[in-house]
Amino acid sequence: MRLRILGTAAGGGLPQWNCACPGCARARAAGPRAWRTQECLAVSVSPGAWYLVNASPDVRTQILAAPGLAPPDGTRHTPLRGVLLTDGELDHTTGLLALREGAALDLYAPPAVLAALDGPFPLRTLLAPYGSARWHALRSGPGEDALLLDGGRLRVTPVPVSDKRPRYAAGSDAPGPWAVAYRFDDVATGAAALYAPSLARWPDGLDAALAGVSCLILDGTFWSEDEMDRATGGRGSGARTMGHLPVDGPEGTLVRLRGRSGVRCFYTHLNNTNPLADPSSAERAVLAGTPVEVPSDGTEIEL
Ligand SMILES: [Zn+2]
Repeated sequence: MRLRILGTAAGGGLPQWNCACPGCARARAAGPRAWRTQECLAVSVSPGAWYLVNASPDVRTQILAAPGLAPPDGTRHTPLRGVLLTDGELDHTTGLLALREGAALDLYAPPAVLAALDGPFPLRTLLAPYGSARWHALRSGPGEDALLLDGGRLRVTPVPVSDKRPRYAAGSDAPGPWAVAYRFDDVATGAAALYAPSLARWPDGLDAALAGVSCLILDGTFWSEDEMDRATGGRGSGARTMGHLPVDGPEGTLVRLRGRSGVRCFYTHLNNTNPLADPSSAERAVLAGTPVEVPSDGTEIEL
């Protein structure tokens, strides 16, 4: 199984176009090699067939930077077979507008997300005249079959992680889950990975879904619960309220990852305020001696 972490930033990327906070200023001064595009993953278990998880607004540059995602010489065929959405957030879905030309893609999302993309954000209506999208509702939970892709070799199991709606769908009464993680199993080799870019809490079922997984790519949006408040001088926008379990603290994700020997763990979806984005930060040094890494855009993992 090959995983390519196409983008590693939360919505807006790093630096954000309209921000000069310490994190954005550092990245801007360091130049494009220090920049992070918005969160997106590509996964493959056989040559020439890739699936995206989420489609960020940066998806065009992310695909162009990935040699494995280029069309073979002299063709208009793409190795991209489909896209799995973890949720309906704008920074995870608007890239689909950039993928409208040509390729016939299979698109998978939880039913609530499909409803939102038919309603308050009518992406499905917008894409319909281009004729390239086949939408599939992906149900999760006990009794639901896993999805088999790539001729049955790639097994995809959605794991419900939260009922947080995108802001544009705040009024929706569609039943959740509104956000899922995905477990990927290479049926041929037994390799397994789990991708959870949005995690408001450590949900029931997540530990069970991690059994046998050797690569875990997790929500690293915020280092601390009050990071946004300190960055903006605001009050009340705690990390968990915004749908993201912080890295640090007794309830954070790092304590759950520390002891996982033999599992490579990566933080993704880093917010511009997260000091982990700075390789020289004291917070980054805390990860030394743990199985957790902070990947750059374009990091490839082979399992
Ligand atoms: Zn900033």
